[in-house]
Parts: sequence; structure tokens; C-alpha cells
Amino acid sequence: MSHEGIRIVSAERARLEDLEHAQMPPNAVTPKKVRVKKTEGTGVEIEWNDGHRSVWSFEWLRNACPCATCHEDREKTNRLPGEAKAKEHTLLKMYKAPARPLEVTPVGKYALKFKWNDGHESGIYSWEYLRRVCRCDGCMTKQEL
Ligand SMILES: [Zn+2]
Ligand SMILES: [Zn+2]
Repeated sequence: MSHEGIRIVSAERARLEDLEHAQMPPNAVTPKKVRVKKTEGTGVEIEWNDGHRSVWSFEWLRNACPCATCHEDREKTNRLPGEAKAKEHTLLKMYKAPARPLEVTPVGKYALKFKWNDGHESGIYSWEYLRRVCRCDGCMTKQEL
């Protein structure tokens, strides 16, 4: 089932998404400090203007790539952003290098772009997206509701 990248949302869903947008205060989606631990290969840390702090591993971010292709792929396989694909290596034992970025570039003032070591680079990680997928205990509880 392919909609050629067009996402059909119900009026209710669209209304809820608008509401979610409205609830995100500017301070919550403006980073005060961004640390990309590229050399260490560990991940990204963001300190937000509202004092909140978020941490993600590169592996998690790679699996949460917001581009249309990855998004669709996750929908098809029922994975949440950040969730790794089912392990294929029972069939083919291939060594897969852990995800890490070769390049991290800011996109305007609103996002980060990663060029991953698997060659993928179409995901634009906006501050807003990153804040929404914050992995801290407080946010995780909210996301599960
Ligand atoms: Zn992607
Ligand atoms: Zn959080």
C-alpha cells in the first residue's frame, strides 16, 4: 500500500496534531546548547531553553530518521521512531557497523542533518521533532499515554 509519500490524515488526527503543535512553547523547541559527540561516537545531547535536557544515542537517532522513506519503512514494519529493525543476522551473519554520523550539519536555525556511515543522509531532524522524541523518563511517560 503506497500513497506515494502522501499521508492521508483524518480531520480528527489533523486537529490533534495542530493541538500538539500549539502546546509546544518556543522555549521547549529552542536549543540552548547542542553537543554532538561525533568523536566519541556516543550520541547527541541537547539542553533546551526551558532547562530540559535530552540525550539520544546515534543508533537511536539513525533508527528514528524522519525522512519519508524511513518513516514509511517504520510504518510498514510497525516500529516506533528509534526502534531497531528485527535482527536479520540469524539468516545472514553480516557485521553491521554501529550507526554513527560522518557529518553533522545544521540546517538553517531549525534542524540538524546527519550523514550516516551507511550512506543515508535524507533525514532532517528538526528541533521540534527531537524534542518530541525526547527519551528522558518524564517525556517517555507522556509519550506512552
Ligand atoms: Zn531516512
Ligand atoms: Zn524529556
